[in-house]
Amino acid sequence: MIPGTDGTWPSGAMTAAQITSIGKVEATSVPVPGPQPGHALVRVELVGLCGTDQELLHGEATYVTDGRIQLPWTFGHEWTGTVVATSGPAGEIGPGIRVVGQTMVACLSCRTCRSGQRSLCPRMQEIGLYGIDGAAAEYVRVPVHALVPVPDAVDDTSAVLVEPAVTVARALVDTRCSLTDDVAVVGTGTIGLLAVMLAHAMSGDVTAIGVDPAGLDLALRVGAGRALRTGEAPAGEFSLVIEASGTAPGLLEAVRVARTGGRVAAVGVVGGAVRDFPAGEITLRGLSLYGIRHGLDHYDRTLKMFADGLLSAEPLIHSRHSLTRPGEAFDALANRSTGRPKVLLSTRA
Ligand SMILES: [Zn+2]
Ligand SMILES: [Zn+2]
Repeated sequence: MIPGTDGTWPSGAMTAAQITSIGKVEATSVPVPGPQPGHALVRVELVGLCGTDQELLHGEATYVTDGRIQLPWTFGHEWTGTVVATSGPAGEIGPGIRVVGQTMVACLSCRTCRSGQRSLCPRMQEIGLYGIDGAAAEYVRVPVHALVPVPDAVDDTSAVLVEPAVTVARALVDTRCSLTDDVAVVGTGTIGLLAVMLAHAMSGDVTAIGVDPAGLDLALRVGAGRALRTGEAPAGEFSLVIEASGTAPGLLEAVRVARTGGRVAAVGVVGGAVRDFPAGEITLRGLSLYGIRHGLDHYDRTLKMFADGLLSAEPLIHSRHSLTRPGEAFDALANRSTGRPKVLLSTRA
């Protein structure tokens, strides 16, 4: 490890957790990324793992199958750390500032970005997913414009959950969740449980739907008024349904339980086609289906919600593992059974 606390850009070798071949993840030694204008070097504290990382490991993610990334690959798209150095003008981002990083990094120069729609940039890169090395390492190099300062009131564990939480925020903003809504959240993973917390705060009425009894129990503890197994809820019950399972049965359930005229937000990414999707019901029942891409514009407000306690990270944390033993963390992710979804890698453990 190379100290870099005086604002000089460190060099040398660092430890990274890399997917070195399909199904194999290991700690490796790689060069510290060098200075690049407009970038900061961040000393990583915590990295969160999610289903996307599992898909990367097993070669199932589109980023792998369509050739956007080559192995070995440093993963890590949910993370927090402290800036140690910057190159070029960096505004409020400087050494010692705690930050979270936006996963999606827009080019800021194409026509779409210039028209104010950077979340739709066709030249998008995603940290840890394609284009930019991830944060499962001692250091990550990130464009300064993709960094967001973390308030003192938000601890590292909460900060690392901001990345999944911004997408939840986007879903509730886009669907205009309000106090008149009866909300259902399908899925009790990280996204689902964060959606339960936020929908509880915004509507006061949220039902969790899922297949994992431990996850449903946890949903009750973090704000759900009811928890139902998939198939138990009456059809057409909810004005707003957040699909957070990323599974075909979850999406079918979300459409089934949505009320006539209701909204369904697809946050989870369903792999492949959904057999027997009742496309006609979208029309006949006047459902609005929202594809929620990412919450690129909601980082500051989401951080504030963690600071204010509307969102809380600790109930979601399954376990913490050392960056030097990433295989342990992926094993924990594959075998977790407590309902707590989030597995973390720590550079300090
Ligand atoms: Zn993720
Ligand atoms: Zn662009």
